Amino acid sequence: MLLVTHSCSELFLSFKKMADKMTPEQRHRCMSRIHSRDTKPEMIVRRWLWRQGYRYRLNVKALPGRPDIVLPRFSTVIFVNGCFWHAHEGCDKYRVPLTNVDFWTAKFRRNRERDERNYRMLHKMGWYVLVVWECQLSKENRSATLLALSRRLSQIFLDTKGAKLYPTAEGEPLPIAAEPEVGYSS
Ligand SMILES: [Zn+2]
Repeated sequence: MLLVTHSCSELFLSFKKMADKMTPEQRHRCMSRIHSRDTKPEMIVRRWLWRQGYRYRLNVKALPGRPDIVLPRFSTVIFVNGCFWHAHEGCDKYRVPLTNVDFWTAKFRRNRERDERNYRMLHKMGWYVLVVWECQLSKENRSATLLALSRRLSQIFLDTKGAKLYPTAEGEPLPIAAEPEVGYSS
């Protein structure tokens, strides 16, 4: 099938135009391709985390929603969400297509409900849930987003395990973050 020869991003762009002409089976196959691992926005976050010294696991199947990135040491999961599929409210990249409106509206509602359900379950299990949107990783927004992410992770670390990993002789926690090289400047 012609579609599988396209790169994911090409596929993503052409998908919106083509989806309405597809059979349900074609549509499903196409969506599976788009949802495949290693899409670009996720890679931006992963590469950046790695360079900052964070170590993580990927696509942990045992967790609700199979989070893209799992930082066990920080009790944190990160979802890198495509704005279209995850129906990013108020975002330019999320528009209900003008044809088959009912199909798309229902699909986006289900996606959104599923996301929220997963986030709630993870939260109950004791995970911090961070969501990074595709549009927040555009060239203009990327550095601000990644800086905010590192601040959040540092804060989480202090709120949770940081104290245990850096005890003083008296057993008092020191106010020190896990990754001092991670930016604290504003
Ligand atoms: Zn967005």
